[in-house]
Amino acid sequence: MTPKIANFLAQHMLATPCLVVDLDRVEQNYRALARILPLARIYYAVKANPAPQVLERLVGLGSSFDAASFEEIEACLAAGARPDAISFGSTIKKAVAIRRAYEAGVDLFAFDCAEELEKLARNAPRARVYCRILVENAGADWPLSRKFGATVEMARELMLRAGDMGLDPYGLSFHVGSQQTTTASYEAAIGRVGMLFTDLTEAGVNLRMMNLGGGFPARYRDEVPEIDAFGLAIMAAMTKHFGNALPEMVIEPGRYIVADAGVVSSEVVLVSRRAKDDPVRWVYLDIGRFGGLAEAEGEAIKYRITTPHDGGALGPVAIAGPTCDGADILYERANYRLPLQLGTGDRVELLSAGAYVSTYASQGFNGFAPLAEHYI
Ligand SMILES: *Cc1c(COP(=O)(O)O)cnc(C)c1O
Repeated sequence: MTPKIANFLAQHMLATPCLVVDLDRVEQNYRALARILPLARIYYAVKANPAPQVLERLVGLGSSFDAASFEEIEACLAAGARPDAISFGSTIKKAVAIRRAYEAGVDLFAFDCAEELEKLARNAPRARVYCRILVENAGADWPLSRKFGATVEMARELMLRAGDMGLDPYGLSFHVGSQQTTTASYEAAIGRVGMLFTDLTEAGVNLRMMNLGGGFPARYRDEVPEIDAFGLAIMAAMTKHFGNALPEMVIEPGRYIVADAGVVSSEVVLVSRRAKDDPVRWVYLDIGRFGGLAEAEGEAIKYRITTPHDGGALGPVAIAGPTCDGADILYERANYRLPLQLGTGDRVELLSAGAYVSTYASQGFNGFAPLAEHYI
């Protein structure tokens, strides 16, 4: 937790649950990525946290933006982003969304299949397009594979056709999976996609851009490699493949930029045991999977939790949300241990909760209000 957030929480008795985001930390994270990959242009993945305060801070730093919908494009424009700094990076777009984006001046679009390419040709003539390639997502705590991406063979065919369809075949992209904890995944993907890049260039396609996607990990309960390791591995792999003829490089970080800039403050609603002699206590918080912690699905993302009793003796717990839904369990198998003293009414903090939380909150499931947000 940043000192600024700690002070803010100490000074205000905020109603819980709430998310507090330190915008200076957002800036630091942006600058860290810019430092380790100075040749890459940063397109912030807006869906990780689309708050206007976050977007405005990033616009001020010269960031570009990766948008998942026309609504996110509007949010970027409202925050002061120029349309030529926005990429419509979703591969699943309604024709009307493509047309609106194009009319708003957006000129860069992703696709991963023939039908989407045809939609782009019809609704965004002459736009720059890039094809997303299916790559291994091993090592990612929140994998994205199989839902997105073309095989190398299909991507080759589509990129060869794009020019004849009146589009500008601009580049190739991949995503190694979110919360990617290995640098080897980037190296392998760069090797694979780089080979296609070279092959298409030799076939006469005027490709200029390699988009390395997001995936850069945040520190949750378990350690992850330092961000510098990712920068070094990526540059080494790019140089190994392209020598000094590097194409334009793009990265699309979401989680890394905002995750550790945010803290969720929550209250313990109840601590119970299923049986009197059961060593496992059930700790019910006033936030759960429907309150914004959707990434606890499958216990994939494991938040670090601090309590007022830290330093005291610990015991095993299961941790769950407050709703009357059996799926609203955060952690039952992940071996969480919390202080034995923890009780009803205690405030606890979930660290590194600035990414993929605020927008995942339901619209009042069980009557609970959507997560409150404070940007400081
Ligand atoms: C979600 C997404 C990102 C951001 O991924 P992170 O793992 O949060 O960095 C980047 N690019 C695309 C296309 C995405 O869908």
